[in-house]
Amino acid sequence: MKATVLSVGNELLSGLTTNTNLVDIARELFALGIETRQSVSVPDDKQAIQDAIKHVDDDLLVVTGGLGPTHDDITKESICDYYRLELSLHHETKTRIENYFKRLGREMRDTNEKQAYFPKDAIVLTNNHGTAPGVIFSANGTTVVLLPGPPSEMRPMLERVKTYLKERMQTSVYSAGYLVVGIGESELEADMAEYYPKHPDVNIAPYAGLSQIRVVFVAHDARALDKALDDFKRRFRAYIVGPHDATIEQRLVDTLIAQGKVISFAESCTGGMMASTLVSVPDASQVLNESYVLYSNESKIKHLGINRIIMERFGAVSEQCVYELAYHLAHRTDADITLSVSGIAGPSGGTAAKPVGTVYYGIHHEGKTKTYHRVFSGDRNMIRTKATVTGMALLLKALMHEDDHS
Ligand code: AMP
Ligand code: MG
Repeated sequence: MKATVLSVGNELLSGLTTNTNLVDIARELFALGIETRQSVSVPDDKQAIQDAIKHVDDDLLVVTGGLGPTHDDITKESICDYYRLELSLHHETKTRIENYFKRLGREMRDTNEKQAYFPKDAIVLTNNHGTAPGVIFSANGTTVVLLPGPPSEMRPMLERVKTYLKERMQTSVYSAGYLVVGIGESELEADMAEYYPKHPDVNIAPYAGLSQIRVVFVAHDARALDKALDDFKRRFRAYIVGPHDATIEQRLVDTLIAQGKVISFAESCTGGMMASTLVSVPDASQVLNESYVLYSNESKIKHLGINRIIMERFGAVSEQCVYELAYHLAHRTDADITLSVSGIAGPSGGTAAKPVGTVYYGIHHEGKTKTYHRVFSGDRNMIRTKATVTGMALLLKALMHEDDHS
């Protein structure tokens, strides 16, 4: 099965909104074994929408945006007009939209009624997070899926679409993968050059983020998939931190809970980002009691008793400093595992010996304190984010006793 993704919205073409819907949709289709052959973005303009679908000869057309109640939301009307499909009132949907407004204590406007009109035999996808329903229908041999633009409304509906597509596809598709941290995208690609030809029946796609890559494997043959996964795991074990659909912070919280451990942080260059990222996971309260943001040199001395001579001789961004921070933090907080992080996020402050992006970590765990040194590229906040992700990966590896002592 092949697909076109059509993104509708003026905001996508003025640079105001990043087209995250395309990323989400293409990724989910890929996992179903559906190839997205093209993606087109057009403004909220009838002619532009119809011109774009003129060139679609795929089995599947997924469209997002322009399903709202206002006059500039014309996606459904433009597409149905192109396919010469009449729209009729879907009573159940109208009641649902009315109830949505009642729940919020607001009056439903007349403009919302157009959201309850659909082509005959269409499958209406209810929207539990807004008023715009999605819809699936057939036109000229193409399965057309219309979804609302806001990602918070689009994503849950995409789950329904996946179920629908899975049921309709004759062949079974298997997918799995890994979340990888600590290796660059180009380095991974280079290492995989000889790996790909060994697994010709498996489609492999790396999705790179900041310091983390999700590698997704899709195959029609479950055995071929398992072989490719095993082979990948053997080669890249040191970098794997979980399955491809996991988040590193969730993995860290789950691992700490499973081991009955409590963590604390002493953060300098990340400025609380590590604690904040951990707290974004429900149940973080089971594993985090307290955490420090110690940004200035004085604060490190004052709160964790770092030796002033060490600070003066080696500086705050040093192996010696993070060692002391992690060690003293363990004794101050009684946490089972502690992490300290200190680095140069830039843009100023770099030297030849310690360029911008230099980050040191200390981890105290099971009576030992180890230090790690990394250099990240990017601007200030990219460096801080990479430092956070990498710090979490180092913690996971330490907890799993897979740390490489580097
Ligand atoms: P809609 O009313 O369905 O046109 O969607 C309205 C809002 O959804 C826009 O203001 C954007 O913030 C968001 N949105 C629309 N299309 C996309 C997209 N392709 N990716 C991410 N957000 C989008
Ligand atoms: Mg719009």
